[in-house]
Amino acid sequence: MSDIEKNENGTDVEEKTPESKNFIERAIDADLKEGVYDHVHTRFPPEPNGYLHIGHAKSIILNSGIAEEYGGKFNLRFDDTNPMKEKTEFVQAIKRDVQWLGAKFEDRVFFASDYFDVMYEKALLLIRKGKAFVDDLTAEQITAYRGDFNTPGTESPNRNRPIEENLRLFEDMKAGKYEDGSLTLRAKIDMASPNLNMRDPIIYRVAHMHHHNTGDKWCIYPMYDFAHPIEDACEGITHSICTLEFEDHRPLYDWVVRECEFENPPRQIEFAKLYLTNVVTGKRYIKKLVEDGVVDGWDDPRLVTIAALRRRGYTPESIRKFVELSGISKANSSSDVSLLEYCIREDLKLKAPRLMAVLDPIKLIIDNYPEGETEMLEIPNNLENEELGSRQVPFSRELYIERDDFMVEPPKKYKRLYVGNEVRLMGAYFVTAVSYDTDAEGNVTAVHCTYDPETKSGSGFTGRKVKGTIHWVNAATAGKVTVRLYEQLIDEEKGKLNEDGSLNFNPNSLTVTEALVEPDLMKAKVYDRFQFVRNGFFCVDCNDSKEGAPVYNRIVNLKSSFQLPQANNK
Ligand code: ATP
Ligand code: MG
Repeated sequence: MSDIEKNENGTDVEEKTPESKNFIERAIDADLKEGVYDHVHTRFPPEPNGYLHIGHAKSIILNSGIAEEYGGKFNLRFDDTNPMKEKTEFVQAIKRDVQWLGAKFEDRVFFASDYFDVMYEKALLLIRKGKAFVDDLTAEQITAYRGDFNTPGTESPNRNRPIEENLRLFEDMKAGKYEDGSLTLRAKIDMASPNLNMRDPIIYRVAHMHHHNTGDKWCIYPMYDFAHPIEDACEGITHSICTLEFEDHRPLYDWVVRECEFENPPRQIEFAKLYLTNVVTGKRYIKKLVEDGVVDGWDDPRLVTIAALRRRGYTPESIRKFVELSGISKANSSSDVSLLEYCIREDLKLKAPRLMAVLDPIKLIIDNYPEGETEMLEIPNNLENEELGSRQVPFSRELYIERDDFMVEPPKKYKRLYVGNEVRLMGAYFVTAVSYDTDAEGNVTAVHCTYDPETKSGSGFTGRKVKGTIHWVNAATAGKVTVRLYEQLIDEEKGKLNEDGSLNFNPNSLTVTEALVEPDLMKAKVYDRFQFVRNGFFCVDCNDSKEGAPVYNRIVNLKSSFQLPQANNK
């Protein structure tokens, strides 16, 4: 059994047993035990070239969670070494998303560009040590010289350029004397290495570009594999946790921190990226959907950016749970959206008030209810959570119910309204359908019923039972709201890609409709979340709602065939 204790917020933290720890935690435990580090410091290093998505959420939750678990620190660092694609808009959006997820970075926000001077100094150090050289091979030549998995590379003719000449050329590169792409600085490692990343990788390039942070100070920029370990080392990061595609880059990471002579250098540990089956993740791909106008911006609720999930109505808690249940591993795999949906349903089940909204209305007239009278019924907000209290709901002779809650010719097991059948109107009375009106085409336009005043909810009536309960709204006081219903952006049935390789979009990914709702739902504020009885969980849209005119996004429907796998069932 594990011990439960309280953390500083007073919430329960479960102390992990060695078996319940993931491989990263076990590696950290070993480092602390062996004295490699005496503390833990992690970071999340996004490139500010787009919005964060659910995969990034995994990295944020993992890195900040580890810092918290070990009483360490967590940095948010913008990896802004490529000025081409980066924008301040993205910096703001990323900060907001990381904060919203609950990762505590406080004032520890850094920019890789803050270390450009250090990087330059370290490059000079490498040159002086004979570990880096200036090359004038073209990009094509460098690729051709690199060789491949089966062929060792060929050394550049510039590889043994004298140190003094390298220093002078590198300074001239910095001074702007060379054109983009004309010269590079390369690490001198091993052209015969079986790891292609170690074959004298480029560490600096000439690029006359304006940088959002450093302006026009630099016309040479460091390459990722050189910059990243230095950024980590400058910040005193102990465990540089990244995704699996960097595994082959680790020897280079270690080479850089060693040859640059950092004391107590950081260590890189890789884990598998989070993928969602049949969902577009990957910044580049999401960006394309935004730019092509397939979706309506980075926060379109059909996307899985953090901004979109927040707008749709997902909670940070549900995303954390999802990350926890999908697990940390070294093997690539794909999680199902139904797991994410399960997590938000579980989170909102007890938190969200349950109110009534009719999405496809048809009138219900109670023939024996006094005309002109309205009574207020007290209805509990969530039968499973008394703490949410109750509300007063108006009730009178004319109501609206869902069109499919009445049938002229009901199939056998149908338990809702049909002529002669009695059902409960949720929180109100039993009613029995007696007749219905139709238009010229024979469509039902209104249902007539009678009610039994003895059967009022909460009155203790036990005389008889009914099989069905339906929801309703009072016609005279119903509010009209815009409701958006979502399906997956990708057509799941037919698979993710069309034959020509393009994405196979679901034409029904967005349905906009009007719903009639009880008065309290008209007063809701942005991000308020409700269960619309029998219709799903909904959230007030943060962009398009106005005071007194909320727009509701469906977060998720109520039903699911999803079963939480036993192993994960904790
Ligand atoms: P994308 O693959 O979406 O283009 P990226 O890796 O280019 O993302 P970065 O801004 O460089 O985006 O990512 C910041 C951090 O988030 C990196 O450490 C990266 O490894 C991690 N990360 C990115 N995608 C995922 C994912 N799907 N699952 C887990 N971590 C991820
Ligand atoms: Mg990247």
